[in-house]
Amino acid sequence: MTLALGCIADDYTGASDLANTLTRCGLRTVQTIGVPADDFPLPEVDAVVVSLKSRSIAAADAIAASRAAERWLRGRGAAHVLFKICSTFDSTDAGNIGPVMDALQEDAGDAMVLVTPAFPGTGRTVYQGNLFVGAIPLNESPLKDHPLNPMHDANLVRVLGQQSRSWIGLVDLATVARGVDAIRERLARMAGEGVRAAIVDAVFDTNLETIGRVALDHRLSVGASGLGLGLARGLLVTGRVLALEVAAGASQREVGGAAACLAGSCSQATLGQIAEAEKVMPVLRLDAERLVAGSDEVDDAIGWALERIGQGPVLIASSASAEQVAVVQGRHGREAAGHAIEQAMAAIAEALVLAGVRRLVVAGGETSGAAVDRLGLPGFLVGPEIAPGVPVLRSVGGRHGDILLALKSGNFGGPTFFNDALGLMR
Ligand code: ADP
Repeated sequence: MTLALGCIADDYTGASDLANTLTRCGLRTVQTIGVPADDFPLPEVDAVVVSLKSRSIAAADAIAASRAAERWLRGRGAAHVLFKICSTFDSTDAGNIGPVMDALQEDAGDAMVLVTPAFPGTGRTVYQGNLFVGAIPLNESPLKDHPLNPMHDANLVRVLGQQSRSWIGLVDLATVARGVDAIRERLARMAGEGVRAAIVDAVFDTNLETIGRVALDHRLSVGASGLGLGLARGLLVTGRVLALEVAAGASQREVGGAAACLAGSCSQATLGQIAEAEKVMPVLRLDAERLVAGSDEVDDAIGWALERIGQGPVLIASSASAEQVAVVQGRHGREAAGHAIEQAMAAIAEALVLAGVRRLVVAGGETSGAAVDRLGLPGFLVGPEIAPGVPVLRSVGGRHGDILLALKSGNFGGPTFFNDALGLMR
């Protein structure tokens, strides 16, 4: 099998977002957690998104991890690799976008790399090389106060120039609007002047497809999910990938088995969803204080679930109101309380899977991450969407056989999310 598209994402949520975008475009897509082992049983797919956590680590480590991911993807035949970054270009003068781009470009042997974080559909546009978040320039947006990588300059030609060894050029909107040949000409002219990477303007989603088609002339590109969308459309319009009813992919072959839901998010949306779930399934509300204290709360919860999962789905929630959360955090500290509760939820997830649960819904970003880590799941095939941004995932290569998962950030999904998810997970 030959991959049409390989992607290296610099964080997990960005990877999920990209994998979901590619799937919605019609590409059969697997997301892996880290660089997979050589014997990872890759199913027949068009795209693989390797999720790294390389956005805010030392540049040398980000380079090493990204190179390993690229080698794995090229080894599976990926003709084009997208280095997926945040649509707000999260980075510092030290990197990691520029240094990783330089290293991957060296490995790819590409003379020119197209770079754009634009995704107009989600309010990220680039004009004359300046990145806008909605109506405001990046350096006036909340990103100016980001705790890890405050963004003080909206001009990406300058920002990337500071991080990269290469000369950085600009393909402006007027050129993009004239189409693929105009972009190719401009890139060729800049290459002749010694430019090795170019920020590409995009203000409308239609620009992304044009850019994606040109990017596919090269072996490497750098961008956010918007460029992923452009590349996917480019692959489809040029016939390199046939659009399939991929959304059905991950829901094929019923996994059967018991079903359970876990909620660690304390968002308003999740609290409402738990209340709704109470109408249709047994719900156990955990005592956060006992969870943090490491008492029998976890074992009691597992026992409670095992008595019931034979009859139908159950939901176990640590979620609590803001006031209750403040009390627990005040007593134990925010980080310690959060971590202890995440680990407790992960332990419950593992026990349930060992007891035969094969359909697992988890609410909460950090809670989901802890559960996936504990279950040792190396990757997922992305399936139909339950709610915007939340697909059904089918585990690939895990030690527990096929498991269907829905992993959602706290705020995602409508009031009946838990039931909606289970309805699509068979
Ligand atoms: P979201 O996606 O809504 O941010 P997360 O799972 O990422 O959800 O984060 C929720 C955090 O709150 C986790 O660290 C979780 O362990 C913690 N948490 C869950 N329940 C409680 C509680 N009752 N009291 C304090 N913290 C809690």
